[in-house]
Amino acid sequence: MPVSDRPILILGGTAEASKLATRLVAQGYRVISSLAGRTREPAKLEGEMRIGGFGGARGLTGYIARENVSLLIDATHPFATQISDNALVAVASTRIPFVRLERPAWQPKPGDRWTSVTSLEEAVSAIPAKARVLLALGRQHIAPFSRRGDVHFVVRMIDPPETPPDLIDFELELSKPGKVEDETAFLTKKRLTHIVCRNSGGSASYTKIKAARDLGLPVIMIDRPHRPGTYTLPDIESIGHFVDETLGSLRART
Ligand code: NAP
Repeated sequence: MPVSDRPILILGGTAEASKLATRLVAQGYRVISSLAGRTREPAKLEGEMRIGGFGGARGLTGYIARENVSLLIDATHPFATQISDNALVAVASTRIPFVRLERPAWQPKPGDRWTSVTSLEEAVSAIPAKARVLLALGRQHIAPFSRRGDVHFVVRMIDPPETPPDLIDFELELSKPGKVEDETAFLTKKRLTHIVCRNSGGSASYTKIKAARDLGLPVIMIDRPHRPGTYTLPDIESIGHFVDETLGSLRART
């Protein structure tokens, strides 16, 4: 099969992944985007889509072989690690070209008061007694904080949870992150003393970080997992060039 007919597989689930699919389809490539299936009605993406787990690294390896995938792009979330580990195993055995798209992490700026930690457990321990903390984390990451009965938590979520968070002293805030001035007003009104969040990068949730800097509030920042040995590019533009160069040279050889 000519290289141009073989699909590029994008492991997605992020805004960047869906923009990348649009970009590569516009470049003339056949693209299959893969989603884990966590969202009930995911937005339609350009190109082809498949939904659901592959069944571990073996399943992904088999899928790549069956579909005759020409190139694999891991464009999953910075904190999604299992699927990325599976991708590394799959490319080691199928020997197809591979690249990771990952938006750059936020870097501390003058005035930021960050404590960097590497896990949720470390974040739990880093909170001082009697703090009032904005927990800016997904609902699946709240449970470890349940041992801190000496801390008041404000848990911000977009949709109401099916069951209340398993915390001793908390209030729920159902809203999305706003502009910097909204975040400043929110942090002040709730008399928050700390923020706990993950270093997701990107602009959408950065406003709280800027507001914390302006107010001099400490942020307990959960660092991203390290990904040694993964060739990573920071934006869609550079992935587009990588794909052209890589598949162009494969095409010249076939
Ligand atoms: P994970 O722990 O790395 O993956 C768990 C399992 O879910 C994988 O082993 C795989 O199942 C399946 N999976 C994950 N991503 C997949 C994909 N793109 N296509 C097909 N199967 C996939 O990932 P997670 O943290 O649960 O995140 C799940 C998805 O949500 C990811 O695609 C990620 O990009 C997106 N997301 C995650 C976060 C986050 O905070 N972690 C935030 C926003 C979006 P099998 O082993 O059966 O193949």
